[in-house]
Amino acid sequence: MAETIFSKIIRKEIPAAIVYENETVLAFRDINPAAPTHILVVPKIEIAKVTDLNGKEHGALLGEMIDVANAIAKQEGIAEKGFRLVFNCGDDGGQEVYHLHMHLLGGRKMNWPPG
Ligand code: 5GP
Repeated sequence: MAETIFSKIIRKEIPAAIVYENETVLAFRDINPAAPTHILVVPKIEIAKVTDLNGKEHGALLGEMIDVANAIAKQEGIAEKGFRLVFNCGDDGGQEVYHLHMHLLGGRKMNWPPG
């Protein structure tokens, strides 16, 4: 898989507004926020997209990403009112960066269906 800008952010070669980090996951604010809170939860391991995941191999990682999103939502004060978690996958899914990431969006009422 070709390296993306997220690998450079993970290695701290380019700056980002980091809100959480542990050994396996980095979370930072989206550069072009679509909501008052818009944070990307990114595994440090290079996985391109959702279709490269399987539950057996990546279940623990996905669980950790949810734990991190919940902790950040609390930290951001949006856990009570609610938020949205999104994985865009592939062209039709609107994926632009081919390094797996989960969007955490909140701080406003979300629309449904999404665009
Ligand atoms: P995707 O469309 O792939 O699901 O989402 C990629 C997201 O990454 C977009 O919301 C975009 O604004 C964000 N993004 C792209 N490049 C950068 C960057 O260099 N820094 C940060 N913080 N976010 C980025």
